[in-house]
Order: sequence, then C-alpha cells, then structure tokens
Amino acid sequence: MPRPAKIKKNNNKKEKEAVPAKKRKSFSRLRGMKDVLFDEYRYWDLVKSKAIDLARTYGFKRLDTPILEPADMYERTTGETSDIVTKEMYAFVDKGGEKVALRPEATPSLVRAYIEHGMFNFPQPIKMLWLGPLFRHDKPQAGRYRQFSQIDLEMFGEESPVADAQLILLAYNFFKELQIDVQVQINSIGCKECRKEYSNKLIAFYKERGKRAKLCPDCNKRLAKNPLRLLDCKEEKCVEVRTDAPQIVDYLCDDCKNHFTKVLEYLDELDIPYNLNTYLVRGLDYYTRTVFEIWPMDGEESRQTALGAGGRYDDLVEFMGGRPTPACGFALGVERVISKVKEKNIPLKQEDENVIFIAQLGDQARRKVFGLFEELRRSGFNVRQAFTKDSLKAQLEEANRVGAKFSLILGQKEILDGTMLIRDMESGIQEVIDYKKIRQELEKRLNNENKK
Ligand code: AMP
Repeated sequence: MPRPAKIKKNNNKKEKEAVPAKKRKSFSRLRGMKDVLFDEYRYWDLVKSKAIDLARTYGFKRLDTPILEPADMYERTTGETSDIVTKEMYAFVDKGGEKVALRPEATPSLVRAYIEHGMFNFPQPIKMLWLGPLFRHDKPQAGRYRQFSQIDLEMFGEESPVADAQLILLAYNFFKELQIDVQVQINSIGCKECRKEYSNKLIAFYKERGKRAKLCPDCNKRLAKNPLRLLDCKEEKCVEVRTDAPQIVDYLCDDCKNHFTKVLEYLDELDIPYNLNTYLVRGLDYYTRTVFEIWPMDGEESRQTALGAGGRYDDLVEFMGGRPTPACGFALGVERVISKVKEKNIPLKQEDENVIFIAQLGDQARRKVFGLFEELRRSGFNVRQAFTKDSLKAQLEEANRVGAKFSLILGQKEILDGTMLIRDMESGIQEVIDYKKIRQELEKRLNNENKK
C-alpha cells in the first residue's frame, strides 16, 4: 500500500506576504475633504429631510444638475473678480480640450437649466429645491471645506417682495424647527442704475487722502473693479476704514427703495428678527436688490460661519441668454448646520424602531431562516440578522447593538418541533411559538409595545 504523502511543514516562520512591502501604498483623503461616516449620516438625514419637508410645503420641487459645468459659465456669472473664480475654482481642461469646472456654487447651473429647458413656458414662479456637493479650493478651517454641500432654494419669475420674504421665512423656519437660534442680516444693493451712483461715491470715499494706504492689498485691487466688495472685507484695517463710508440704502432709486421697504415690512409682519446690515454686499457679481445672510446667534465668529446666504438676481437669467426674468434664492451650508445641530444636542429620530432580529444555530436552521428573513422583510417588518456568525451569544450581542425589541431564534430542536423561540430583548424572557404563527405573534407583540 502506498504510503500517504507526507504533508510538508512550512518551516519558514515568516508568513508569505500577499503584497510585497515595496508595492504597498496607503492613501488619505485630500485636504479639506470629508468622509461622512455612519453615525454622521443620521445628522445629514435629519437636516436634509427637514429642508425637503419644508420646501415641499412651500411648493418647491426638487431637481439636480451635473457636477461638472463649463468653467466660463462661472467666470461670466459668479464674476471674474470674485474670490470663487479668481482663487477657489477647481477648473481644468478635459480630454476633449474643453475648460470645465467642478461647480463652486449652484445658482448659475440652475439658471442654465431654467433657460435650457424652456422653463419660462411653464406657469411662473418656478420654485426649485436643489441639494448637492460643491467644490472650492479655499483655505480649510473650521466650517470651511473644499468639498461641502448646500441646500439651495431658488424662485424664478417672481419680482414681488413677497418672494424675498417667503424665502427668508423658509430659512428662518428651517432653523427654528431645528432649534437653532439665528439672526437674519439683510441689506439691499439696489439695481444696476442706482448702484452706479453709489459705486462712484464709494470710490471717491476710499480715494480720500490716507485711506487707500490703510487698505489690504486685495481691497486695493478691488477698488477699481468691484468697490462694493470693500465693505465686505474682514481685514481689521479695512473694517476700520469703512466705518464712515456712505451707505447704499441712502442711494437706492425709488423702485429699489420701495421693494426693500416692502420686504422689511413683510418680515416685521411675520415676526422675523433681522438686522439691517449696510455692509452686507455678498461676494458674487449677479446680486441685485435684496441680499441676506443667516448668522448663528451665538459664537463670536458668526460672520465667518454664516449658516446660509442668498438674495435677488433679477438680471442673471437675461445675462445668461434667457428672457428677462426676476429671480431670487438662497443656500444653506449643510456641514455648518450639522455642526450647530450637534452643539445643541438635538435628539435624532430613532430610525431603528421595532427591530426584529433573527438568529440561528446550525446549518439547517441558517438555511431556513434565510427564507424567513425575506418573508418578514417583504411583509414590512424591520428585520436584522447576523447569519455569518455561528455562536448564539455573538448573534444576541448584535441584536442588542441594533436595538432589537425581539429576537427570533431557530435551532435544531425547534426545526424538529415546528417551533421557534421568541426572546424579549429587554426582559430576556424567551417563549416557544408555533413556526407557522410567527407573523401573527410579532404583530400582536409590536401592537402591545406601541400601546405602552
Ligand atoms: P455662498 O455660496 O458662499 O453664499 O455660501 C452659502 C453658504 O454655504 C454659507 O453660508 C455656508 O454655510 C456654506 N459654505 C460656503 N462655503 C463653504 C465652505 N467652503 N465650506 C463649508 N460651507 C460653506
């Protein structure tokens, strides 16, 4: 009889590596980018669902746009002198030689979509709800990321100040319902016409002796091209100089003054606290008339950590090739809202309610509960399992971890008896039930639980 071949022992102590060390390389996420992990996602769900529910109540409909857009769309709309375009845009030439950009803001895409899909033919106003990631190569710091998300609401085809007030009301209610105290900072930057006169006054003011030398290099450059932006600068010296600057509200034309007064009257009527902030101009080129920001009430740096911002842009649709269409909108910064929600310890909805865990012992039981799991899931039960685990102890630990109310346990004995065990996870009491009556038993028990 041939001897069985000896199994050679591997005396080489060093385990053979699947990937040689020199080929290994680990990666980290890029600076200013975030992973949103499991627990964090619960906050995302809360914030998004609050925005979606509210927006729906006010008649906004959801839409989406591509992440990549033509770079010159932002150059022409957001503004060639804006920080977003000059410093922060992720723009590159693609394989077809086209200059494209990862969207740094949503409004230009939404205006493009409004025009491209002929939405001026639909009954106006068109109310849009948009959620998605944006990209700005900014200096990362607390509350400032290179990829961040916004919830945008835009309203096209409505010139009335009611539209401005309704958007601010919506933003205000959003924060109120999340129990975050905010203040609305508001200003009007007029229309093309009245802004012209004001810009000249502002340039004259800044050119008065001694003032220019005090300004930061950016503001010195901005003075010729975009003087309003000087009011917005956060540099200490620029803030000091602007104290005596002329105020735009004194230069608004009658129409713009009227429009702004009405917006403020609506806000008074709606009991929305606001602060008339004459330095608020916003960094983007396309705004006209109302501009506003939502600041958190607390925190010294509230200006730097605005939770949301928006305004009216009555000329942008025409500027981008559409029919003259008044419009306004605002954006909320999702990451910043979430960090406020976390600060406030706002309880999150228990998403895993009435969880039923299915446990098994042995191969035959495992095969059987696969089917039971699918059957209960299809009947609408909130079922969980850990079928890859063999030990009952490990499975029940998992049941506790997912907050199960009841566990159903199937072993060899139960298969033979046509039964199953049901364990109340809180009391630990186990009872035997008829396998065929599992559904009725679960329904009865969950009903009793919900009545408690
Ligand atoms: P903006 O589009 O610049 O008017 O910004 C609107 C809102 O988006 C801000 O109020 C912030 O809440 C948020 N936001 C803007 N830039 C960033 C960023 N780099 N990181 C995180 N959130 C941002």
